[in-house]
Amino acid sequence: METLTTLDVLRRHIAVLACVDETDALFVSCYLNLEQGETGYRKVLEDRISALRSTLEGDARVDFDTAMHQIEAYLAQKLRPGAKGVALFSRQFRGGAFFLPMQFAAPLPDWISVCATPNLFHLMALKDTYHRYVVLVATRARVRILEVNLGAAAVHAWTTQPELRERVGREWTKAHYESHRRERTSRFLKEQIELLDRLMAAGGHTHLILAGDPRLTGEIRRALPKSVASKLVDTIPAAGRDAQEGVVTATLSAFVEWEERDSQAVAARFVQGIRTQGRAVAGATACLDALRERRADTLLLTQNLLPEPGWRCSACCTVGIEHDTPIACPECGKNAVRPIDVAAELVRLAGQQDCPIEVVEHCDPLVALGGVGCLLRY
Ligand SMILES: [Zn+2]
Repeated sequence: METLTTLDVLRRHIAVLACVDETDALFVSCYLNLEQGETGYRKVLEDRISALRSTLEGDARVDFDTAMHQIEAYLAQKLRPGAKGVALFSRQFRGGAFFLPMQFAAPLPDWISVCATPNLFHLMALKDTYHRYVVLVATRARVRILEVNLGAAAVHAWTTQPELRERVGREWTKAHYESHRRERTSRFLKEQIELLDRLMAAGGHTHLILAGDPRLTGEIRRALPKSVASKLVDTIPAAGRDAQEGVVTATLSAFVEWEERDSQAVAARFVQGIRTQGRAVAGATACLDALRERRADTLLLTQNLLPEPGWRCSACCTVGIEHDTPIACPECGKNAVRPIDVAAELVRLAGQQDCPIEVVEHCDPLVALGGVGCLLRY
């Protein structure tokens, strides 16, 4: 049985796809939404196959048929019941083939294209939305540290500590007991915070949610070291006996809300960066330059970005943003020029250097400036 793709695997696969060598053979990039099962995507898939096929001839058509055959075979046999989205990348030609399927607990749109390079937009957007984060649940009963992986809908318990009460002696008088208990609780929480710090640093985690008894989470929040406090997204009150499921569900909506605020904050930084000059650039040409010079911090794209026709020379990697593809490369003179979608090329470059992309829902200035922008590194 295939497994759902985790964020770490998604990252690795994006790097592979972004750097794969270009050949004369075409890549089929196929994203499907599985929420309604096969009936949901079947018609779109068949319409797209027929439209794409009619644009190809000779070897390219034979290779395309082989790629689609492989994709169909995978869809018929390998889909997991819990998968809501699938992404398949296939390139077939005599003497070598490439096939990379991924399944997600997150939905994807129905979207199929054929190009010399894989189209990574929806994968990068998924990476932007489906983070993993850490939850520390502190109740009177116990303290637990969980890792929530949205892309794989997986919750992994890192630690479960015994009851606080059990760790406190019973032979004390009540007053003595209270004071001792507070001290033991503080020491215990301190240990947990140190453990949390180590686990988050080791796992490269950048987001934390605290949940549980407000008095305990308050004490934990005040005791967090700076390195962890800066990663705190939200604190959620949860009753003592809440099941793990309930706590995780509560953290999910808090995380999604935080994501939306974060996306708006990135858009605001972009607008400010354009106004003050030097911190942000807009438009495909400036973004291409920023990415190639490795000055890009974040690539911003509007949600309904249309393909922008351009060309790329596979000999010297020059990219042009003109509707008409020149016969020979104006830079190196070689006949290695191919038409591309400049937006897809921007996403591919971002994928090569692990530059995050932010898909912005509402940002009129970004739309007015061509729908693409970059925050620059300082
Ligand atoms: Zn060239």
